[in-house]
Amino acid sequence: MSAPTGKTRRDPDRVGRFRFMDAQPVNLDGFAVEDPSLGLVAFDSPADPLPSLVVDEEGRVLEMDSRLREDFDIIDDFIAHHGLDLAMAPEAMAVPDLQLARMMADPGVPRSAIIRLVDGMTPAKLARCLAHLRPVELAMAMTKLRARRTPSNQAHVTNRSDDPLLLAADAATAAAFGFREIETTVPVLGDAASNAMAVSIGAAVGSPGVLVQCSVEEATELALGMRGLVSYAETVSLYGTEQVFVDGDDTPWSKAFLASAYASRGVKMRVTSGGGAEALMGAAEGRSMFYLEARCVALARAIGAQGVQNGGIDSASVAASVPRGVRSLMAENVMVMARNLEACTGNDALMSESHVRRTSRTLPILLAGSDYICSGFGSIQRYDNMFGPSQWNAEDIDDYLVMQRDWGVDGGLRSAAEPTVAALRERAVQAVRAVYRHLGLGDFTDAWAEQAIDAAGSKDVPAADLMTPLVASRIIRETGLTMVDVVAALYETGFEAEAERVLRMLKARVAGDYLQTAAIFDDSWRVLSLVTDPNDYAGPGTGYEPDPARQGEIDTIRQQRSMQDLRAEQAHHRSERLRVRGPARVGSDPREVVIGVSPAVGRELWSTLSGLAVVEVLDELLAGLEEEGCLGRVVRVNDTIDLGLIGLRAARLSGSGIGIGLQAKGTALIHRRDLPPLANLELYSVAPSVDAGLYRLLGVNAGRHAKGATPQPARNPYSDEAIEARYHTKVVALVGIERQCCLPQLDPEELEVAPWQ
Ligand code: CA
Repeated sequence: MSAPTGKTRRDPDRVGRFRFMDAQPVNLDGFAVEDPSLGLVAFDSPADPLPSLVVDEEGRVLEMDSRLREDFDIIDDFIAHHGLDLAMAPEAMAVPDLQLARMMADPGVPRSAIIRLVDGMTPAKLARCLAHLRPVELAMAMTKLRARRTPSNQAHVTNRSDDPLLLAADAATAAAFGFREIETTVPVLGDAASNAMAVSIGAAVGSPGVLVQCSVEEATELALGMRGLVSYAETVSLYGTEQVFVDGDDTPWSKAFLASAYASRGVKMRVTSGGGAEALMGAAEGRSMFYLEARCVALARAIGAQGVQNGGIDSASVAASVPRGVRSLMAENVMVMARNLEACTGNDALMSESHVRRTSRTLPILLAGSDYICSGFGSIQRYDNMFGPSQWNAEDIDDYLVMQRDWGVDGGLRSAAEPTVAALRERAVQAVRAVYRHLGLGDFTDAWAEQAIDAAGSKDVPAADLMTPLVASRIIRETGLTMVDVVAALYETGFEAEAERVLRMLKARVAGDYLQTAAIFDDSWRVLSLVTDPNDYAGPGTGYEPDPARQGEIDTIRQQRSMQDLRAEQAHHRSERLRVRGPARVGSDPREVVIGVSPAVGRELWSTLSGLAVVEVLDELLAGLEEEGCLGRVVRVNDTIDLGLIGLRAARLSGSGIGIGLQAKGTALIHRRDLPPLANLELYSVAPSVDAGLYRLLGVNAGRHAKGATPQPARNPYSDEAIEARYHTKVVALVGIERQCCLPQLDPEELEVAPWQ
């Protein structure tokens, strides 16, 4: 104890509790005071225009959202010309905002009724309607309004070295986990063609019908698409203010042209936008993020794109820095759905360092279901994600699978068996090796191939040669190689199945069915889209429900354990040292302490939750008693599984009147023959944390009690871990086995603990 000195260095304004809170991960995030002048406002900036629409008799829009025709910027102009159903507009614009909001959340109002009205709504009108929806209402609206009935998910597959073998292995892995779209990109632009080819080959190894894109500069990306090296595109960015378009040397017309270019070659395409982008570029014109995004979504519809990737994307953390920002990100996604477009719903760039916060942002969308829950789940590790870390990464795949299972919802992923993934990774690596060698693109060493197959990330592939993708890409560009050459190379090198899958994707582009809104292929090449798999949610019992096979995938995770698994694990610890000697007698030696064990000990159960064998625990207890000059005797109590009763039975058989009760799972106590059953002298209740030393101590203390002393009680070891979550399923199974072994007619039996051989 130190005496008060009278001088304290404590800052009067600070306390330890706040220093502690400051150190938590959420405080690495940035938070802004709402500031409409900078565009740092989610909904309803004072500068957001009032909705309006004036159309003359010739069908010309004279005024839209409080702006006159002569004052239109390029975005207004494009939307006014191409983005509104003017026949529907008078009815749509007359619907009160709140009424449309209620219609959106009401399962009784069919999706088609909303879509029909929204077609005639200006950006400001739709933004105001959606701003009325609370989070749970947004989830209801999303469940009903998404285009495709079956939810899905998109992966990022990239790495720091653009290693073609690792890209292919990771693409096959992503396909095995259920992703139906894979997006790659490059740290080095010159590597793009090689990355596109490697990911496409890997994806084809992993599953039929997985779509692949390579997100790079627009002209390069289009060229990759035209050569068939990728099967969809997504990185055509739209913005909500003219200034940002102009800064990017772009217009709505150039974006519309690009969209048509993709469509003309049968390549699926969606655009990208997202709240906060304009504020980030200092050109928000004082408008709210949500209003500007409403302009982007209307524009997406106007240029003829079938879908939108939004919900913040790269600027998600900007939107999330202001009040209600995360809500606005989800409202953006619902807006896309209400415009009858495919929604790729963000959950892309990592929004927060806090696991709690990023989960909070994603969960409502996982529960509601979306065309793509994530517009970029980092299926590779954070450090290999060349888009920057995603909201969800390889680190989180198990968490995500468990969340799907917890809620019984389809988040688009499935568990993949380790041997399956090992075989797919090997095949993907061999396929890329064969194709690159056959086409003269590059050679890979055996060491490199082996490392890529096994690697959890690019740091595990030191053998990778960084020049290989660059050289391969140059050859692909200069020789005009196309995906048809890849098909031929696969076929000629013994990868007929993969050749067939890649060829079928090229054929699909000619058929064009996957250009329909929200199209994916399932793994038997069926196109699921707004046309072939329309969302028909209309309340409980309707809409998407996983079929039994899919529900089985959702429910089955690799960590689950059954009673059979537990019995096998226990049998593994079976020991010949524990033998039944005969009926237990009542002892008379005052130095004697009886250890009563539970009914399953020595029958079905052999090891405790801490991993110690039950005989090892008995060795420790007996040694502890011996240290105190006491005599231990082991008795199996057969007629109860209650630890208190087991201990009491033992105490009543014991010459000293002191007994130890021990369940197979490791819970233990000291009892005395004159105490009521539920009382005890000392108790270890947290069996998973009790180690050999603590059991020894319990033996010592029991000996001291037998001698009439009052030892300092043994204490449960402290832990801040989720011990119960870790062990409760095991406890349920262990108790079940104990109960099966419990025989009410059978008297206690003496057990011998034979010495080590
Ligand atoms: Ca994406």
